[in-house]
Amino acid sequence: MSDTDTDTDTGAGSHDPTSLRTPIVAVLGHVDHGKTSLLDKIRGSAVIEGEAGAITQHIGATAVPLDVVSSIAGDLVDPDDFDLPGLLFIDTPGHHSFTTLRSRGGALADIAILVVDVNDGFQPQTLEALDILKRSQTPFIVAANKIDTVPGWNANEDSPINATYEAQSDRVSSRLDESLYEIIGNLSDEDFSADLYWRVQNFQRNVGVVPVSAMTGEGVPDLLAVMMGLSQRYMKEEMEIDVQGPGVGTVLEVKEEKGFGTTIDIVLYDGTIKADDKVVVGGMNQPIVTDVRALLQPRPLAEIRTESRFEKVDEISAASGIKVAAPDLADAMAGAPVRVVRNRELDEVVDEVEAELADIAVDTEEQGVVVKADTLGSLEAMADALGEAEVPIVRAEVGDVAPRDVSVASTAEEPKQRAILGFNVETLADAEQRAETEDVTVFTDEVIYQLIEEYEEYIDELERAQQ
Ligand code: GDP
Repeated sequence: MSDTDTDTDTGAGSHDPTSLRTPIVAVLGHVDHGKTSLLDKIRGSAVIEGEAGAITQHIGATAVPLDVVSSIAGDLVDPDDFDLPGLLFIDTPGHHSFTTLRSRGGALADIAILVVDVNDGFQPQTLEALDILKRSQTPFIVAANKIDTVPGWNANEDSPINATYEAQSDRVSSRLDESLYEIIGNLSDEDFSADLYWRVQNFQRNVGVVPVSAMTGEGVPDLLAVMMGLSQRYMKEEMEIDVQGPGVGTVLEVKEEKGFGTTIDIVLYDGTIKADDKVVVGGMNQPIVTDVRALLQPRPLAEIRTESRFEKVDEISAASGIKVAAPDLADAMAGAPVRVVRNRELDEVVDEVEAELADIAVDTEEQGVVVKADTLGSLEAMADALGEAEVPIVRAEVGDVAPRDVSVASTAEEPKQRAILGFNVETLADAEQRAETEDVTVFTDEVIYQLIEEYEEYIDELERAQQ
């Protein structure tokens, strides 16, 4: 299975090594608003519409080629109007994976879909996602999901949603209008400069809100069309990469894999990675220099019974997800950079990885709280949020809450700083015991702002107790 890059080969300029890469799409939103269902629906439609094998199941991401996008979107996407190869969807929805996936410039995703349940409106994680999108300057489109639950709504999968929308009775449209109006009201111009989200001429409104149903699939063609159109129009320059160049990517996950030892799942956003490349990977203490042992792709389901879950590939080009097996990956960090060395000075590449890691590093102070997070990106998001809340940090690290962290927290002069804030991590049993004896409070949560709220409530309590 090869990851074909678009061959917009017109003859004359065919020596140009630069090709357009696939825009990377992430899906965010509040829990239960339909992120997983929407991704499943898009993938499902792609499988139905696509030729067998057309959908490349990558590691951590699904590539939907332009011709498949076009068959799903029908008249809305004419493949002749586009020279982008399609769309690459990050498989794990949620802002957690979004913050993990960072690239040199900030967020790895080129576009985001912010899913909002029309019945439920903006919820805490919607706001948190908005905040993250705003900070990372990622353009996004709102998918106003579950329109099938609007009473009286008549599903019509065959026609574009604009037509369906207009065909609905006044009662239905006004009900939907209300929900959409509320969503739009939350996207105030004060908070978002023009280039932070796309203003889409949709339903005569100047905002990027597309009503969809992840259940019936209605609106999915419109959503794909809007994403393709906007990527083509506004982001083409950023999509130009030298596909032959040495690959650049981000670690999505560090995983033990039977027969391969520690492997890293990466998303490649530039260039190519080959099965015999030397790579530099961001590690806990220093950059890891290692030789690729194998590049692994998931095998089609039908073949798995008899064979390994993975098949080896010789090389792969951006944008794609791939599993890399190589020695010495135990200290690799999710969210850290990966760079192929090929034809370059090793020192130079190591310096680049170091610079990138330093760029992500959190500023610490003499006194403050200890922060732990599961990935570099989420650590950075935590540090940003704590900075806004004016909470100083003494130590910030990727990993579970360990006894060492308790020791550091226990040296704090102020009682309110005898605290550890862990985002998306566990507290190791011996750390828990130690925290109790050393009077250190450990907070853990999976929502950043809830974690900070818990900590702030704790400070209030402490202050009240002192009065
Ligand atoms: P996530 O937590 O954002 O990934 O949400 P899920 O995709 O898991 O969806 C949460 C629940 O909402 C599930 O029970 C889905 O079946 C349901 N759901 C998602 N999308 C729709 C939709 O468009 N219409 C309806 N009626 N239900 C939906």
